[in-house]
Amino acid sequence: MSQPILRIALPSPLRALFDYWAPVGTPISSLLAGVRVRVPFGRRELVGLLIEVVSQSEVPTERLRPALALLDDSPLLPAPVFRLARWTAQYYQHSLGDTLAVMLPNLLTQGEPAQFKPRWLWQVEPNLSLDDPRVQRAPRQREALRVLAQHPQGVAEELLPRLQLSREALNSLRNKGLVRITACNDLPEPKTHQGSWLLEAQLALNSEQRNAYEAVKSRFGHFQCFLLAGVTGSGKTEVYLHLVHQMLLAGKQSLILIPEINLSPQTLARFQQRFNARIVVLHSGLTDRARLDAWLEARSGNADIVIGTRSALFTPLLNPGLIIVDEEHDTSYKQQESLRYQARDLAVVRAHMEQIPVVLGSATPSLESLHNAHTGRYALLKLEQRAGHAALPDFWRLDVKNLVLDAGISGPLQQAIRQTLAAGQQVLVFLNRRGYAPTLLCHHCGWFSLCPHCDARMTLHQQTGRLHCHHCDYHEPLPTQCPQCQQQDLRPIGAGTERAEQRLGSLFPQYPVLRVDRDSTRRKDSLDQILQRINEGKPCILVGTQMLAKGHHFPHVTLVAILDADGGLFSADFRAAEHMAQQITQVAGRAGRAGHKGQVIIQSHLADHPLLVQLTEQGYFAFADQALAERQAACLPPFSHMVLIRAEARQPQQAEDFLEQIRTLAEDMQQLDSALTSVELLGPIPALMERKAGWHRAQLLVQAQTRGALHRLLDQWIPNVALLPEAKRIRWILDVDPLEV
Ligand code: ADP
Ligand code: ZN
Ligand code: ZN
Repeated sequence: MSQPILRIALPSPLRALFDYWAPVGTPISSLLAGVRVRVPFGRRELVGLLIEVVSQSEVPTERLRPALALLDDSPLLPAPVFRLARWTAQYYQHSLGDTLAVMLPNLLTQGEPAQFKPRWLWQVEPNLSLDDPRVQRAPRQREALRVLAQHPQGVAEELLPRLQLSREALNSLRNKGLVRITACNDLPEPKTHQGSWLLEAQLALNSEQRNAYEAVKSRFGHFQCFLLAGVTGSGKTEVYLHLVHQMLLAGKQSLILIPEINLSPQTLARFQQRFNARIVVLHSGLTDRARLDAWLEARSGNADIVIGTRSALFTPLLNPGLIIVDEEHDTSYKQQESLRYQARDLAVVRAHMEQIPVVLGSATPSLESLHNAHTGRYALLKLEQRAGHAALPDFWRLDVKNLVLDAGISGPLQQAIRQTLAAGQQVLVFLNRRGYAPTLLCHHCGWFSLCPHCDARMTLHQQTGRLHCHHCDYHEPLPTQCPQCQQQDLRPIGAGTERAEQRLGSLFPQYPVLRVDRDSTRRKDSLDQILQRINEGKPCILVGTQMLAKGHHFPHVTLVAILDADGGLFSADFRAAEHMAQQITQVAGRAGRAGHKGQVIIQSHLADHPLLVQLTEQGYFAFADQALAERQAACLPPFSHMVLIRAEARQPQQAEDFLEQIRTLAEDMQQLDSALTSVELLGPIPALMERKAGWHRAQLLVQAQTRGALHRLLDQWIPNVALLPEAKRIRWILDVDPLEV
């Protein structure tokens, strides 16, 4: 056979594989698909994954370069995960090499060995007598030698203190040639499971929970997607815990995705409290080394339970048995840069490839998942009762037309807050806008605080004394006079959490006001401290953004106030109403979890809006039915499928011109292939925010009734777009199933 050629996926935006000669002198048997290869690339070196070995290349042989080294003895990823990578790259029209780079721990893409952090092991030299004359007159060394000799496999460096072994004594022994140190790459904490998997008794499931649990259990070992739609506090987590226990008994691993570790500490804590099992946690706060070790533990099968955020979906597992996606509606499952994947959707794809069940859980499922349940693709499991004794709260739509709003707070709401506090209970005020005020306005000439780099207003932050653009992060000191007319009549317009906090503080000076948003929790532990104060149970007011809507239990909160529900009803974004309803329901679900019934007050100028009426009188699922009917009538997702192409250029018009050009390319393809004519091309139009961070932005929306037609077009079109010379001069992104259009 001729000399083998390696076809390699490299971290590069180019949607192509790259050919190299095999490294000089490598035996053919070690050229396994899926091992990493180090190669020269331009003047750099890159690490890629071997996809296949071929005998011929389109590159002229004299231009082929030899690869430098193979980095693995066996394929890095198990077959299903590798297939998932290929599927993901294809579906999101992303280069396979870049997709793999997103999926793998950084250290592996940098070429580090796929091994645990090397650790030092202390061992006695073989055939040693404990009465060696060299320790006769050193009792501490003799004792150390005796203890160490009881561990013929060696003692890891970090365990020395636990065995009361002194490093000093060991060093002396080593100098005398009685003891040695070796490096080892074994598991840091090999599994030594004994006895029960449970650290605490399981709760007995109620009948709704039991039905859900049995339904999933009956599909163990097969693919099935379940949508566990359970009202807040209905005991979804308890169902997960029971299922995971079954996995442990069966020797299978569970993969659990949660939206954000910091915002859902309880979920993690409940798994740790419940199980005597090896749990690894994967999230963006880990060091590269810790991430690789956790990844290796999952791959080796040593980890019984893997809990993590979005990217943990790609963790290889030796014995996968179950995937759970908690709070499946949460938008943090969608990555909003580079590879714009939706981890919830990929979890379903992965479960299919692994032939295991997947459970998507939420009190407020996404309309996509509900639609899949209605059409029978997902099995719907409902929990309609709250577990334990808590009742669901009462809703009250408060029409604020013609009412004075003082920092966003109406008179009747003030009254309700006063009564709640006086009754010794807590109040939660929800306002999804941080900062003091969204705009600063000159009352004299009408100037207002526009960002110099975006088509957006800058938010006034009183705490830092600055105007801050939330879109590009530009900020500047607060002006003391109007930059346009020099008058000193600048006024904050509208209210953010800082302002609501300040006003509530002066209205109710005898009660603490605790603010929870990205600004107030920037310091490590500050969220924990706030949560601790809330849990003390004394009457107080919580003011915060959607951070308050996630996963917490506030047993003493009995009044929840939504300051402004109008944004979700007015917005140009077709998903705004869905997100508003999810937020209201989730925030409301924090209330009245203990003995007292909760009350939810929603301030709105559109208090009679049909969606708001449905939501508050009949609940989220009635709202969702109505919203789905509207989507169907308008042919919007999930009744159609979208791809957004956004271009950005320094000069106005350039982005539009580029999109116009690629639109023509697509139309030419549609002329030739009648299967593509059902795909609609909308635009180019300026993006909702035309200028952002100094870039002029335009977009082209591609929409179709069927995924088949849409992807058939993309598969032919996008590779050609990428080849255009303009495609290299302009910034452009492609977003399949975009969250925001
Ligand atoms: P969800 O995940 O749906 O919000 P949780 O699983 O957190 O609900 O349950 C809400 C509360 O009800 C928790 O305090 C939990 O301990 C309790 N709970 C759940 N299931 C049961 C049960 N079967 N019996 C008694 N209490 C339960
Ligand atoms: Zn002015
Ligand atoms: Zn800006």
